[in-house]
Amino acid sequence: MSDCCNVNEKSATAPAVMACPVNGRRSKRVAMLTVKSLVRKLPLGMANTQYYFCDASDCDVVYFAFDAEAPRFRREDLVVRVGAKETADPIPICYCFGFTRQDIWGEIRSMGKSTVAERIKEEVEADRCACELKNPSGKCCLGDVKRAARDRLNQK
Ligand SMILES: [Zn+2]
Repeated sequence: MSDCCNVNEKSATAPAVMACPVNGRRSKRVAMLTVKSLVRKLPLGMANTQYYFCDASDCDVVYFAFDAEAPRFRREDLVVRVGAKETADPIPICYCFGFTRQDIWGEIRSMGKSTVAERIKEEVEADRCACELKNPSGKCCLGDVKRAARDRLNQK
């Protein structure tokens, strides 16, 4: 197998959490693979640095780098809508299987509860998800799915 795409991330010196340079949100690390998968058009000669994911809803920056010279990526640079930054439907929550906030709210409206988290959990346990490639945070969506259902139920 070719290793030409192997990434040697220089993450050893980069902190686990960095403040977003635009709105100061404490942002967690995201793998370069996630950035490369979700940014529509990668700049040529992009620095091999540690990137961070800003999930603040009032900030347009999605990815910024430890290396301040490296390009930042904004909402419109990504191939998906970043759910955490959207206020109008459809708000994606699960990127692997395409569940939106509407799906969860719709179930709660018709059945009084949401089964989305359980359905996703089965897929995750069977190793059929691809969060690192599809979710802008690079992480599993299950926590967000459960939170969306819980918040909606608490509103009732
Ligand atoms: Zn930000």
